Amino acid sequence: MLDLAIIGGGPAGLTAGLYATRGGLQNVTMFEKGLPGGQITQSSEIENYPGQLEVITGMELMDKWPQQCKKFGLKHDMNEVVQVTKTEDIFNLKLANNEQLKAKSVIIATGSVPKAAGIKGEAEFFGKGVSTCATCDGFFYKDKDVAVIGGGDTAVEEAIYLANICKTVYVIHRRDQFRASPHEVKKMEKFDNIVQVLNHDTQEIIGDNMGVTGVVVQDKNTKEVKTLDVLGAFIFVGRDVLNAPLKQDDGSFLCDLNDSGEVIVDLKMNTSVKGLFAAGDIRIDAPKQVVCAASDGAIAGIQAIGYLQ
Ligand code: FAD
Ligand code: NAP
Repeated sequence: MLDLAIIGGGPAGLTAGLYATRGGLQNVTMFEKGLPGGQITQSSEIENYPGQLEVITGMELMDKWPQQCKKFGLKHDMNEVVQVTKTEDIFNLKLANNEQLKAKSVIIATGSVPKAAGIKGEAEFFGKGVSTCATCDGFFYKDKDVAVIGGGDTAVEEAIYLANICKTVYVIHRRDQFRASPHEVKKMEKFDNIVQVLNHDTQEIIGDNMGVTGVVVQDKNTKEVKTLDVLGAFIFVGRDVLNAPLKQDDGSFLCDLNDSGEVIVDLKMNTSVKGLFAAGDIRIDAPKQVVCAASDGAIAGIQAIGYLQ
């Protein structure tokens, strides 16, 4: 039986593994369905990880994390965990290859992924002007014009974040009313450099070999088509929270989630189930940054040691 099973090998899972093994836990396995490192390995430019003076790629940032964990005894299983259940004090893990395992404690660190809007040019220019993270990439557009696509709370919040950095922020929404709360919309309206482009479909993100140069939008009433000249297109059309392993046979979830499917935790990364911790982008109110996911992982790893004692 495992002392601790960590599900997900991104910054949160790896750091949880580092702290748990270095803190003395002997039998710890991290399950990762892809390559360890997590979603940051898709990024070509990171300049906000503390201590990194140069702009580096996500691959470079995560390169040594798995080796460091291995040094302290973290085992790595390249497998997908499909379900976690709990019987009395023991967790049961079902893997994609039908293997079944038991663990005394579990840290879920499977993250969440931004949804794609399905706009022409979105995939082609991803990382070359198209972004799903204002905190990560906003600074690259300092004093430049950008577009935000989406009308929910995230789009509006991130538009406000960008308005403090960029020259003009066009917020393009497909309906004539924002889905975001009126409170957030009111906050946005105070910014002179945010231009609302309501009731417009985004037809295409265009660019050249340097990256994005514009976003083509169509007025849904008049059918007029125009191009907004922007160098960045930030897409916030919702996220898929990767909470599937927590789903039980009866359709309920092993622990409490919020309406968006994120795991509810306290400041010590405890979930509503004893011995089950959550860390990183999967948890409520996650800032969705590597440094924060790593911090969560450290907290969860330390808490798992305490729980097992
Ligand atoms: P993730 O990194 O998402 O890791 C979760 C891991 O779990 C994945 O490897 C996944 O394969 C695995 N997994 C999922 N389900 C299962 C399962 N059932 N079984 C086994 N394994 C599973 N942050 C910054 O701080 N600075 C930046 O500049 C920055 N830029 C970014 C650019 C891009 C393009 C992207 C996509 C993100 C960026 N981020 C940035 C955000 C950062 O990557 C995330 O906040 C961080 O990776 C979250 O870490 P995590 O460990 O919680 O989740
Ligand atoms: P969301 O509420 O699901 O909103 C997604 C937005 O994207 C909607 O406006 C939707 O348009 C639009 N959209 C979806 N698919 C699209 C497509 N293919 N093309 C163009 N537009 C598309 O997602 P979210 O904003 O990420 O928020 C998720 C949850 O977190 C919500 O419950 C939200 O309230 C919460 N949240 C809260 C806060 C806060 O309280 N401060 C902050 C952030 C998020 P339609 O409106 O037409 O469907």
